[in-house]
Amino acid sequence: MRKITSVLLASALLGAALAGCGGNNNSASTTNSGAGTTNTTNSGNSGGKSAETPKVGVAIYKFDDTFMTGVRNAIQKSAEGIATVDIVDSQNSQPTQNDKVDLFITKKYNGMLINPVDRTAAGVIIDKAKTANIPVVFLNREPLPEDMKKWDKVYYVGAKAEESGTMSGQLIVDYWKAHPEADKNGDGVLQYVMLKGEPGHQDAELRTTYSIQAVEDAGIKVEKLAEDTAMWDRVKGQEKMAAFLGSHGDKIEAVFANNDDMALGAIEALKAAGYFSGDKYMPVVGVDATAPAVQALQDGTMLGTVLNDANNQGKAAITVASLLAKGETPTKDNVGFDITDNQYVWISYKKITKDNVADAK
Ligand code: BGC
Ligand code: CA
Repeated sequence: MRKITSVLLASALLGAALAGCGGNNNSASTTNSGAGTTNTTNSGNSGGKSAETPKVGVAIYKFDDTFMTGVRNAIQKSAEGIATVDIVDSQNSQPTQNDKVDLFITKKYNGMLINPVDRTAAGVIIDKAKTANIPVVFLNREPLPEDMKKWDKVYYVGAKAEESGTMSGQLIVDYWKAHPEADKNGDGVLQYVMLKGEPGHQDAELRTTYSIQAVEDAGIKVEKLAEDTAMWDRVKGQEKMAAFLGSHGDKIEAVFANNDDMALGAIEALKAAGYFSGDKYMPVVGVDATAPAVQALQDGTMLGTVLNDANNQGKAAITVASLLAKGETPTKDNVGFDITDNQYVWISYKKITKDNVADAK
């Protein structure tokens, strides 16, 4: 995939260098998954109303992220008939992403959909977009409020991080209340470890805080044995969990992970330490409800997760971007989702356990 992308990018760069040569290797049209019969002679004027499908440049923070791959697929699918998308990999580098944004502007795309590498860099992207008069929609990594206020053609599509934190805490509360043996040392206190996502990401910070808050709000005392970032990553989750087990072993009574990939990594480390066989059990919760997590729920290794709705986030994001790109104002009627404060679309989370896995599919 990455190779194909860089080939496309290389040809796009070449095309830009040979501007006007009339080559047919335009990455915007090659990545269009539509039937290919729609016209491709877009005039390229941003902001103006047009009956043609608008061109939207989409930059994902990195392709190698399980959840964002789901969102990316949803964007591609929902774009059919409403936008011609050019989806690029920012490879987890903000300078790389800024270059992609410059390229979208040079190509006179009608709209941009950006999943920032560093959410505090959104301000710079907004300045560039405003100067070029190309509307921009951010997703998954929420720009700071002061940056959102810079222009009215800036939107954010995402989910409320607090909500997912609260829900994952409640999953542990339900388990703790139903299973007195969960208090392994019988001290009436929940000893836990926390696998955090990327520091500074709203989902990492708020899920960490609100999950534990939900446990305390249920009247349960907690003791944090360890907390570390595993950067949303499965392999790092496994390594950090192995380290936690090395220093705290059987004192650990629950594992909170800010996403499913890290939870799945933790489960691997727990399996290697003999958990999930015989009566050795550990409640592990994640967030996202990715396909492998749903499998783990069914296998009985993951206690619960929270659906982070990739399909609706991708759909809402490209719908808003395509409307703005055509010079239209997004509303509840034309987007199909509520718009809050004229700039935000919030997609709901949902608690998922093995009893309602169908809701996650
Ligand atoms: C997801 C993570 C993902 C991150 C990327 C979060 O909302 O839960 O799985 O790695 O977004 O920004
Ligand atoms: Ca205890």
